[in-house]
Amino acid sequence: MSKEELNPFKIAQSQFDTAAELVNMDKAARAIMREPLRVLEVQVPVRMDSGEVRVFKGFRVQHNDARGPTKGGIRFHPEETLDTVKALSMWMTWKTSVADIPYGGAKGGVICNPKEMSKRELEQLSRNYIRAIGRFIGPEKDIPAPDVYTDPQIMAWMMDEYSHLVGYNAPGVITGKPIEVGGSLGRGDATALGGMYNIREAAKFLKMDLKKASVAVQGFGNAGHFAATLMKKMFGSKIVAISDSKSGVYNPDGLDVDEAVKYKEKNGQLAGFPGGQKVSNEELLELKVDILIPAAIENQLRKDNASKVNAKMIAELANGPTTPEADKILKEKGVFLIPDFLCNSGGVTVSYFEWVQNLYSYYWSEEEVHEKLDAKMTKAFHDVLDTYQKFGGKVNMREAANIVSIQRVETAMRIRGWF
Ligand code: NAD
Repeated sequence: MSKEELNPFKIAQSQFDTAAELVNMDKAARAIMREPLRVLEVQVPVRMDSGEVRVFKGFRVQHNDARGPTKGGIRFHPEETLDTVKALSMWMTWKTSVADIPYGGAKGGVICNPKEMSKRELEQLSRNYIRAIGRFIGPEKDIPAPDVYTDPQIMAWMMDEYSHLVGYNAPGVITGKPIEVGGSLGRGDATALGGMYNIREAAKFLKMDLKKASVAVQGFGNAGHFAATLMKKMFGSKIVAISDSKSGVYNPDGLDVDEAVKYKEKNGQLAGFPGGQKVSNEELLELKVDILIPAAIENQLRKDNASKVNAKMIAELANGPTTPEADKILKEKGVFLIPDFLCNSGGVTVSYFEWVQNLYSYYWSEEEVHEKLDAKMTKAFHDVLDTYQKFGGKVNMREAANIVSIQRVETAMRIRGWF
C-alpha cells in the first residue's frame, strides 16, 4: 500500500487542483493560486529569564489578497513548519472567500514551546515577532488573530507593539483581542456557533430531525466543548460521545455535557468522567451516530479508517481532519460532509466583525453579532449547497465549497487585471 500524503501543503494543493480542474480554471489563475503570494521568514531574538538570548524562527505567509487584506492566525508551536503555515494560509483564502467576507488568506507561526516559557518571555517573543513582521501587516494589509497556543493576551501585546511602531492606536491590526481593548462580544464560541448554523441548514436539507439526532464530538477544547454544549442547547440533540487527547466517554443514552465541562475544568481531562463507558478516539470516530463532529486535530479520518465511519453527517470544526483519500471513501459511502473551511468559518467571521467595529469605533451587542453571524453562515452554506446540487452528485460538499471559493478569488483577480 502506498504511503498516504500527509504534508498539509501538498494536501491543500491537491484539493485546489481537483476544484480547479472541475471548473476548467484558467492556467495563469491556477499558477497564482497554487502558491502563496508572499512568504516572510524572520528571526526573533528573546532574552530568556536565564539571561541567555535565544533566537526563534518565525513565519508570516500571505496566500492571496485579491478580495481584500489578508487574514489569518498566528501559531506558537514547537513543530511549526513553513509548509504547515503555507497550507493554512491557502485554506484561509478559501475560508474568507466561502464566508464571503472581504479578505484574503494568511497565516503566521513561530517555532517555540510556549508551555516552557515564562509570561515575560512570551510577551517579549510576541512583541519582537511583531517588530519583525510589522511592515508586512496592518489593518488594511494583513490582520493576524489567535491560533494554536496564542490567546487574547498575546493579541493585546501584539496590538500594543504594532501601535507603538506606527505611532497611533491601531486596534484593527489584529483580532481576537480582549473586550477591554477592542475585542468583539460573541468571539468565544463563534466557531462552534457558526458550525451550528451550518448543521441546522444541513439537517433541513437531509430532513434530519436534530431533536432526535445522536452526536459524537472529538476534541473538547474551545471548538469541541462549545459544539457539544450548543448542539444540546440549541437543538436538543443527544451527545453520546466526547473525547480529548487522552481518552473519551460514550453513553448511547446521552451524556450530561455541562457536567463534563465542569469535570474537565476541575480535572484537566475527561478520563474518569463517570457519565458513561470509556471510548478511544479511534472508536469514537466509528460510532453509529447521526452527526460526527471532529473538533480536535488534523488527519483523523484517513484511508485506513474512513470506511468504518458510521455517521450520516460529518461537521468538520477542526482544520484538516479528513485526508483527501478519506474524502473519496466518505463520498462513495454517501456521508454528507460539511467541510472545515465552511463549517468553522464562524470564528473568522466574528473576527471580521471585530475589525469592522474597530474601524468605526462602534461596538455591537452580542445579539447583533449572533444575528449577523447567522445570516453570513446560512448564506455561505446555501451558496455551497447550490453548487453541490448543480453538479448533481459529481462533487462532494468540500469540492463544491472549493469551487465557490476559488471562483470568487479568480473573479477578483481577473477584474483586478492579474491575468
Ligand atoms: P483547543 O486546543 O482548545 O482544543 C483541542 C482539543 O483537542 C483538546 O480537547 C485536546 O485534548 C483535543 N485533542 C488533541 N489531540 C487530540 C487527539 N489526538 N485526539 C483527540 N483529541 C485531541 O483547540 P480548538 O481551538 O478547540 O481547535 C480545535 C480545532 O478546531 C483545530 O483544528 C483548530 O484549527 C480548529 N479551529 C478552531 C477555531 C477556534 O476559534 N477555536 C477556529 C477555526 C478552527
